[in-house]
Amino acid sequence: MYRPKEGPRFDYRAQESQRVGSSPTLTDRFPQLKSLIVNLGYYNSKGVAKNSQIKYSPNLDRAKSVFRVDCPNAGCIRGDFDLTEPIAKAVKEHRTTVSAEMCCQGWQSKTTIDTVPCHNILRYTLSLGY
Ligand SMILES: [Zn+2]
Repeated sequence: MYRPKEGPRFDYRAQESQRVGSSPTLTDRFPQLKSLIVNLGYYNSKGVAKNSQIKYSPNLDRAKSVFRVDCPNAGCIRGDFDLTEPIAKAVKEHRTTVSAEMCCQGWQSKTTIDTVPCHNILRYTLSLGY
């Protein structure tokens, strides 16, 4: 069978997108949450900005409660950022603003046998309304 893309990166993304797809929406999981604004900034492992800030407001009725943000490193394997827990914790504690950063736990291949950790950094701010 022809597969347009394969390899560990694709398999992981496919598996993760299934996990996202089968999760309830943000509205279903957090009925008290009325608005969410996500502000993202990407940095490399040394803390140097990689690109401009991204700010968006997911549609709570459609966005899934397993909330993943892709790592901007195109060669990154089994990385990416998972904001699922930070969002759940913020709602539970009824916070209106949460700022933190997380480090990508993926890696990339330097050669066929040598890999280097990705360690890209995502700095995020969540603004929540109830
Ligand atoms: Zn990464």
